[in-house]
Amino acid sequence: PKIRPATPTVSPRRKSRQIMVGSVPVGGDAPVSVQSMTTTLTSDVNATLQQIAELATSGCQIVRVACPSQDDADALAAIAKKSPIPVIADIHFQPKYVFAAIDAGCAAVRVNPGNIRKFDDKVGEIARAAKGAGVPIRIGVNAGSLDARLLEKYGKATPEALVESALWECSLFEEHDFQDIKISVKHNDPVVMIEAYRQLAAKCDYPLHLGVTEAGPAFQGTIKSAVAFGALLSQGIGDTIRVSLSAPPVEEIKVGNQILESLGLRERGLEIVSCPSCGRAQVDVYTLAERVTAGLQGFPVPLRVAVMGCVVNGPGEAREADLGVASGNGKGQIFVKGQVVKTVPEDQIVETLIEEALKIAEAMGIE
Ligand code: SF4
Repeated sequence: PKIRPATPTVSPRRKSRQIMVGSVPVGGDAPVSVQSMTTTLTSDVNATLQQIAELATSGCQIVRVACPSQDDADALAAIAKKSPIPVIADIHFQPKYVFAAIDAGCAAVRVNPGNIRKFDDKVGEIARAAKGAGVPIRIGVNAGSLDARLLEKYGKATPEALVESALWECSLFEEHDFQDIKISVKHNDPVVMIEAYRQLAAKCDYPLHLGVTEAGPAFQGTIKSAVAFGALLSQGIGDTIRVSLSAPPVEEIKVGNQILESLGLRERGLEIVSCPSCGRAQVDVYTLAERVTAGLQGFPVPLRVAVMGCVVNGPGEAREADLGVASGNGKGQIFVKGQVVKTVPEDQIVETLIEEALKIAEAMGIE
């Protein structure tokens, strides 16, 4: 049986060319992918692979590693070989590491136009090496390292400056018949970032990597990223995302995946529809919602579960949910698709919801 009502979709995706980052398609009609960046020393192969494994388990599809030194460049081959997900090498200053990353089997290389004027005379060589290996290049423009020439022209990192920087760098590669490119134009201000990506989306068909750079600690960064990505993705702009948080990278993946789920761009996993509580609540909704979330975490079937603080609005408010509870008088009314199926004491709510969730899974033929 179809448990979940169909989710309305956001605007059609902007038509972008598709590139392959290792096994992950980016752009075109490929699902929007989520990526993060390791915080370990890349030269510490074991620690980096351990963090990549954790990221992959939490739903990261592409991982980027910094490559600021020769020791890091030397570690790339072992990391790229053993990583369960495609590895992108992040190169800021040294063209020689671009070649090292391509030779090491990295799935892509990120370069920063603001930092790589030295690359100008090497672009042809890079383009040939990347093309030969089937390795795409991300042109990663960052407000904090905008090319001095553009900074002078525009006065600061305006959307126009970010876009001009990116397209200028693309043109250098295009001169060498290289178009296996994706672009990012990151800024720490979501308003500037949104405008930059809108302008860029209108001016080229390269796939776009969305990011708000230096978004801040977890709370602020989550909101900035959700606002910016939501505005762009809801208009069909964006092919892969990276949430930047001053927090462990696994948190970035959780936020990124949640943003895609919230926009209906990815199948929703467990979704708790809990009420905010009010003066009518007859249960501690916050604690109950947390217990239900913990009890159903990792459940193999996507579920929308309503946790309502009272029976006045409970079943009615949660009709769209797969199952739920409305509490009152020390009891919980358990309902499936808005119909009350049983009433249990408060301390049995979580286990009863799990039982009902298992029945739903069984009905769907999933064990
Ligand atoms: Fe208030 Fe009940 Fe609505 Fe929760 S479900 S917000 S307790 S009226």
